[in-house]
Amino acid sequence: CGIVGYVGSRPSQDILLAGLARLEYRGYDSAGIAVIDESGELGMRKKAGKLSALRDSLTDAALPDGSTGIGHTRWATHGGPTDVNAHPHLADDGKLAVIHNGIIENFAALRSELEAEGVTFVSETDSEVAAALLGREYRASADLQQAFRAVVNRLEGAFTLLAMHENQPGLVVGARRNSPLVIGLGEGENFLGSDVAAFVEHTRNALAIGQDQIVSITPAAVSVTDFEGNTVEAQPFEVSWDA
Ligand code: GLU
Repeated sequence: CGIVGYVGSRPSQDILLAGLARLEYRGYDSAGIAVIDESGELGMRKKAGKLSALRDSLTDAALPDGSTGIGHTRWATHGGPTDVNAHPHLADDGKLAVIHNGIIENFAALRSELEAEGVTFVSETDSEVAAALLGREYRASADLQQAFRAVVNRLEGAFTLLAMHENQPGLVVGARRNSPLVIGLGEGENFLGSDVAAFVEHTRNALAIGQDQIVSITPAAVSVTDFEGNTVEAQPFEVSWDA
């Protein structure tokens, strides 16, 4: 439902939680975040219920903070609103975290294919199938952008997908088809959001991402390609003051 991503030098946890709070108006039933911490390890927390439930659990047991992170509010379509079904979903032995908005129409066939290869699933979501596919492709290429290209071409339906891997800290990769995603341009930091509300308190400089495109953000750079990997020019725009 709501998506936010951050790469920069500030601790990401509060930026992600504030971004999710600004996306709350869309409605949601669960929330979660993942960060890659200073030691290069991925930490994740997710909770059914309001953002306050996630905040409380982070107060009770803090996640090591880091300056690469992704956050999600979920509006359940496949699987009930439980902690396990909340996003992020992990793959590649917990080293890869994935969030998803939308519906992957062909998830059942993909899930069977992966199960036949020995992948086990912990949630009932269509989204975990995308995470597991990314995990498989990441193990093949050790490159998140290449893994994205392999995966998005196999998914049918509507998706905004964001992912990060602990072997590539400082990088968040995203893709969209029939579901929104925008880039927020900062100084020494960059953002992704399902809408500009996710990052408007940090920057008004944005880039639109077209249909069927993949975006990579690092603290210093953003790049956008189509699903085949050809570079495309993203359209800059300024977020109006009443956003
Ligand atoms: N279909 C996914 C799920 O049920 C994503 C829902 C959403 O867009 O929040 O987990």
